[in-house]
Amino acid sequence: MLQETVWDTGKPPSIKSYTLGNFRGLPQIQKLTEEQRFEMEVVGNVLPFKANNYVVEQLIDWNDVPNDPIFVLTFPQRNMLKERHFERMAQTLRDGADKKTVAAVANEIRLQLNPHPAGQLELNVPVLKDGTQLYGMQHKYKETCLFFPSQSQTCHAYCSFCFRWPQFVGMDEMKFAMRESDQMVQYISEHPEISDVLFTGGDPMIMKARIFETYIDALLDANLPNLKTIRIGTKALAYWPYKFITDNDAKETLGLFERVTGRGLHLALMAHFNHHVELSTPAVKDAIRVVRATGTEIRTQSPLLSHINDDAGVWAKMWRDQVQLGCIPYYMFVVRDTGAQHYFGISLTRAHQIFRDAYKQVSGLGRTVRGPSMSATPGKVQVEGTPVVAGKRVIALRFLQGRNPDWVQRPFYAEYDEGAIWLDDLKPAFEDKFFFEDELKTRYSGARTLEKS
Ligand SMILES: *Cc1c(COP(=O)(O)O)cnc(C)c1O
Ligand code: SF4
Repeated sequence: MLQETVWDTGKPPSIKSYTLGNFRGLPQIQKLTEEQRFEMEVVGNVLPFKANNYVVEQLIDWNDVPNDPIFVLTFPQRNMLKERHFERMAQTLRDGADKKTVAAVANEIRLQLNPHPAGQLELNVPVLKDGTQLYGMQHKYKETCLFFPSQSQTCHAYCSFCFRWPQFVGMDEMKFAMRESDQMVQYISEHPEISDVLFTGGDPMIMKARIFETYIDALLDANLPNLKTIRIGTKALAYWPYKFITDNDAKETLGLFERVTGRGLHLALMAHFNHHVELSTPAVKDAIRVVRATGTEIRTQSPLLSHINDDAGVWAKMWRDQVQLGCIPYYMFVVRDTGAQHYFGISLTRAHQIFRDAYKQVSGLGRTVRGPSMSATPGKVQVEGTPVVAGKRVIALRFLQGRNPDWVQRPFYAEYDEGAIWLDDLKPAFEDKFFFEDELKTRYSGARTLEKS
């Protein structure tokens, strides 16, 4: 049943999740047609769906549904599935299939949605000197390793565009999970080139402070001379700011942040905000204030998403609001080649146009942001513009991060193509291959074969 409105009672609000099992009970959902509810059910059986009472009651403007950006961000949308996939699941549900059959059909569809873009599974698994493979970590760029705590494979709500979706739908063998923080510490100590560890998930801020603390304390206790920065990738500020202000572990969480900064390490919350609406409530403003008071920096990032934020004005306002609140705009991403990319994806040339139109509207303090950037197999590739070079219109690109650090900041050019949405769609403008292709193939030939299979 629905929780009473919890926001103005003076008591700490508790999170109430909405998923496939109970979303039909929401009064707000009654305004939709039965057909729309059925469509949500069809899509929600294939892609992960979770909303919560803060998202539903404070972020979504139900008068603007189905166009409201946060509604599109969190509730399943019919066109997120291609027609044939949609029909396949719709028919399965109409036939009244049992749970096992529905799950089997769902998995069959999911496997056709490129669940592991950019060679995530095979290319980036680190190995300890003793040969142990660390499936809970990724090390793609020299300075920064990613750590996926096994306890953070979920979020306070799910973003419909999310490329981490295979982790949320019980495809267990695809879960990156590692309980052992000493393996993480071991790896970082074996790799003096690592200065940053980035906790990710899911959302690490889903963990209770007591559990998160065990990972952080392992790092602090090890006193690793090379470790300078701990980053936490999180959407908790947008989806559940109470984590930092009123939850029963809020004080402990902030205390932990203070312990990190007090040790002279840089602590960065890599905060995901997709729309300025997420910065507008008193709760999120409070949360940003108390997090910053611990000496933590908040850097922000988001993909550019059709139906949600494909508008320069939305980005300009979001960056301005972030700067006003003391956050540092960091990345604009191009949406990945997985899941519902056909629904959320935006062409590279249009992405660049939106980026530029937004960027030119903000002061220098908002121009810390970089993008639009694709996290592709060879690295993070930024679309720089569409200049005319040697009499020919091209797409100018550069690496912001590369598997080989020497690739970074070298301009290169692709044939102008308004339809291209990802690096794989682009052809070199002046040569027969891009400068990094041979090296990528030879360095990762074994892994490339795996990726294709
Ligand atoms: C983006 C990213 C990082 C961090 O890169 P920065 O440019 O330092 O923020 C690290 N690892 C992977 C796999 C990434 O995609
Ligand atoms: S909060 Fe991050 S990991 Fe979680 S669903 Fe959204 S994008 Fe994915």
